[in-house]
Amino acid sequence: MADTIQAVRGMNDVLPDEAPLWAFFEDTVRAWLHRYGYRRIRMPIVERTELFVRSIGEVTDIVEKEMYSFEDRLNGEQLTLRPEGTASCVRAVLQHNLLHGTGQRLWYEGPMFRHERPQKGRYRQFHQIGVEALGYADAEIDAELIVMGARLWADLGLTGIALQLNSLGSTEARLRHRAKLIAHLEAHVDLLDDDAKRRMHTNPLRVLDTKNPALQAMAAAAPRLLDDLDDADRAHFETVQRLVRAAGIDFTIEPRLVRGLDYYNRTVFEWVTTTLGAQGTVCAGGRYDGLIAQIGGKPAPGAGFAMGIERLLAMLVDAQVAVPAQAPDVYLVWAGDAPVAAHAWTVAEALRGAGLAVLMHAGEGGFKAQMKRADASGATVAVIVGDDEAARGDVAVKPLRGGGEQRRAAVAEAPATVRAAAMAA
Ligand code: ATP
Ligand code: MG
Repeated sequence: MADTIQAVRGMNDVLPDEAPLWAFFEDTVRAWLHRYGYRRIRMPIVERTELFVRSIGEVTDIVEKEMYSFEDRLNGEQLTLRPEGTASCVRAVLQHNLLHGTGQRLWYEGPMFRHERPQKGRYRQFHQIGVEALGYADAEIDAELIVMGARLWADLGLTGIALQLNSLGSTEARLRHRAKLIAHLEAHVDLLDDDAKRRMHTNPLRVLDTKNPALQAMAAAAPRLLDDLDDADRAHFETVQRLVRAAGIDFTIEPRLVRGLDYYNRTVFEWVTTTLGAQGTVCAGGRYDGLIAQIGGKPAPGAGFAMGIERLLAMLVDAQVAVPAQAPDVYLVWAGDAPVAAHAWTVAEALRGAGLAVLMHAGEGGFKAQMKRADASGATVAVIVGDDEAARGDVAVKPLRGGGEQRRAAVAEAPATVRAAAMAA
């Protein structure tokens, strides 16, 4: 026998037992986004490599070492499995001219791909919900995006997710700050790892985003970009803080929070939990006023965030948040010859036509074995069809929970009888 083929490392199957958890999360997220007026957009999973290099930045972990890039065999185009959604979303908005005379509040969901070392909360295919507000410059939008996050945690029943805020200011402020930062890094060059040494001159701010424990003290002592902000950036950041505070949301200012992507300016934020170990950031984002022009559009502001679905689902499991079950209403138990089978089919379709979820027994098994299956399926009611029922053209309805009595019903009355039995359960 041939070896069984395994999934690619770091790329997970989502098994049917996890479906109720995903459904609870996705239903909650959809209702939440609707309440804030965000509309869904769906982009392709594959984009031109150039899109990500230009937007995320050449000297970033993602572009330097995490992208799944390949050449299209037929036409030689350089393509990449998207490592994130913002660049694609902005590309789509520009390509279809959606910013003409109006802003856009958008969201998307889907798999993202990064070639990282797989570990708990870090995978090579993972899923994000992304939220982007394009065409809005005011601090109110930054605050809206942050306040939304807090509401979602509450909607999901999650606690203990802390907000960290920072401002990266303007390009000019970052240039002013750059020389000071490089001087600090040069003073500690003996400590620096290869990544840090290489980035020290090309992208010094990125060095502060290091996960290397040996560099944390050096990074903590680095000069603060916050101290070099322009007045306008400072005022913008203060408005964001005031609005977030007014919404009753606590936060800490983290001067070293720079984010892993180059396109951010002004507000950046992360939602972090201590319950997931090292992979504690469940949601991250900020303002990216230069990105639209960088991708080739007429300059326009933007801001957004993305959350890691797997990390949030892990939190839901740890917190034992109650998730609605996805059990059928009815398990249809039947056994007999062709006329019985035909009757069972008629009954199943009549019940489904009335809006009930019906799991029809398939395969072998007598009534007793089928009743066990019915019970295990989580259905509230078993509808039973045998020789007698087929001959009479009716069904037996047996409640599986709450111990009500078995009843007989004509096919036309079966949905009402099932509903009455389910109500009593
Ligand atoms: P990290 O610092 O953990 O590598 P990041 O800054 O690269 O995160 P973003 O690009 O901001 O992450 O992505 C937003 C969110 O997506 C993260 O906060 C996290 O919840 C999730 N995420 C990012 N990479 C992964 C991954 N490889 N596996 C699972 N979730 C991820
Ligand atoms: Mg990363």
